[in-house]
Amino acid sequence: MKHLTSALLQVVDEVPALIAKLPQAGEFAHFALNSIGDAVICTDIAGNISFLNAAAEKMTGWPMREAKGKPGTEVLQILDSRSRQAIADPMEQAIESNQTGHLPLDTVLVRRDGTTVQVEDSAAPIHDRDGQVTGAIIVLRDVSQARTLVLQMAHSAQHDALTGLPNRTLLNDRINKAIAISTRHHRKTAVLFLDLDNFKHINDSLGHHVGDRLLQSVARRLVECVRGGDTVSRLGGDEFVVLLAEVESMDEAASAATRMLRAVASVHSLDHHELQVTTSIGVSFFPADGEDAEALIMNADTAMYQAKENGRQRFQFYEPTMNIRAVERQALELGLRGALAGREFELHYQPKVNLATRAVVGAEALLRWTHPVRGSVTPREFIPVAESCGLIQQIGAWVLRQACAQAQAWRGAGLPAITMAVNVSANEFRDETYLENLLATLAETGLDPNSLELELTESVMINRVESTISILKSLRDKGVKVVVDDFGTGYSSLSYLRNFPVSAIKIDQSFVRQIGTEGEDSAMVTAVIGMARSLNLRVVAEGVETQEQLRFLRYHRCDEAQGHYFGWPVIPLKFASLLKAGGLALPPIVPGKAARLPAGL
Ligand code: C2E
Ligand code: MG
Ligand code: MG
Repeated sequence: MKHLTSALLQVVDEVPALIAKLPQAGEFAHFALNSIGDAVICTDIAGNISFLNAAAEKMTGWPMREAKGKPGTEVLQILDSRSRQAIADPMEQAIESNQTGHLPLDTVLVRRDGTTVQVEDSAAPIHDRDGQVTGAIIVLRDVSQARTLVLQMAHSAQHDALTGLPNRTLLNDRINKAIAISTRHHRKTAVLFLDLDNFKHINDSLGHHVGDRLLQSVARRLVECVRGGDTVSRLGGDEFVVLLAEVESMDEAASAATRMLRAVASVHSLDHHELQVTTSIGVSFFPADGEDAEALIMNADTAMYQAKENGRQRFQFYEPTMNIRAVERQALELGLRGALAGREFELHYQPKVNLATRAVVGAEALLRWTHPVRGSVTPREFIPVAESCGLIQQIGAWVLRQACAQAQAWRGAGLPAITMAVNVSANEFRDETYLENLLATLAETGLDPNSLELELTESVMINRVESTISILKSLRDKGVKVVVDDFGTGYSSLSYLRNFPVSAIKIDQSFVRQIGTEGEDSAMVTAVIGMARSLNLRVVAEGVETQEQLRFLRYHRCDEAQGHYFGWPVIPLKFASLLKAGGLALPPIVPGKAARLPAGL
């Protein structure tokens, strides 16, 4: 721009004289000035317009003949683009200072019709032959496009292309600003880390296009859940972070999180799909959980993992102990990777007893892991880790094979027939090859499908309803039984029990434990038994530890039970001797204090 201006100024300095004295040279100058893309405007010493080239006519909307003689400020209205205040007349300044000057950045020219154009300029005095200032010249360039481009580039450097939401860079900036304001106002800032549950599955099964549309829909809903001053950002994939700039209390963040859980979970109608997806949210607060954006996001992420582990579709506040757990998890994951090869797994079997006949009718295979250094690790610790790191499929396949082979071996040894129950994680069940692999294992081990029972938790039933029903139907057709494990702790919806072909439910041990204590939980046990009966389902009680619980369950006609009262999970050899001995040596049931029960039960 500067080069151009000084080149032009050299020409223009000569213009008045040339035009006056040499007609050909004047024509040349006119031609040259009208050919260039920049607007060139001259004023005389009094500040009135003396010349406009073609580009200037176009830019200002003033034809030369009308503009000539008018005050420069009438034709050239230049404003600051933000404040919309007029800026000092650059031509007048050039004349007064006798120097070339530039407009401040971010200026706009108001055209004759009132529209604006963003401009950059230089203004310079015009001298006659004697060096006297005779007027001024201004060269203006339309930089609207260039500025739009710069703004677009700045926007895309700070926003996510798919959803248009702020990206991590802008989020960090906003969090740090919010921290500064919260500190001044003695308020909290909340950071919510959201991750969709099982998004990968939607993406893999329905394609990226649908996945993208779902992410856009989730983004819109999240924005609707927050106030104008808050920020919803997308970090990539199915991860979103929401900044609640100033919150009074943790409750306020909790209710925002609840709104988001609901908003995301309601049906998304996309093209030809009606999709449902849930999300898990971790929440961290400034100042308690971190001093800067990075720490707050990291801790909210850790809390989000905990929310997933606690069963998904929920939110969780960050707690410092979670970090210790995260390190612990990593160590477990590393250990699990070597466990199958290192033969560190073993199955123990716990008897299931028919309450009417007292016979052992089944065994539940329970996985045991002996870590070479830590010793035994409980399934409640390592199963969630195996699920989240994708090892559960391999481990589950090993469990199934081992349990089927064991049941078949006992049968081959002439021991009484029992049903073998195997626990299956929701993640295993979701695997498209699950059914195929299961049938192959049955064929290889030779176990009769009627002797196999799968224990699934309620969470399996709420995801991918259609395909789950179809797998369950195929299992039933083959003779494999399906039991709902831990009933009462999850979604406990009657409708799924009606729609899903399952053969039994296991009342969760937390309810069984309440038997004998007054209150609603023993009522829960009786209600579940009644409900199961009306749906023609078998009822199994787990975690039976006392005779009183047993009496209660028998009285209410629970079909089967399992628990320390009957027998702990044991190694295969012990279980075989138990079967060989013809069942359990149980103490006679003595009438107890549970007065409502008839004597003898
Ligand atoms: P679950 O399927 O509900 O298994 C019952 C759990 O209760 C077992 O814990 C069992 O040892 C314990 N238990 C049995 N009787 C009693 C009792 O009278 N009192 C008390 N307090 N507890 C009793 P375990 O073996 O630690 O397994 C915990 C959970 O881990 C299982 O719950 C199951 O969900 C999961 N799990 C175990 N093995 C496997 C497996 O091979 N695959 C999968 N996916 N999950 C497994
Ligand atoms: Mg179980
Ligand atoms: Mg259970």
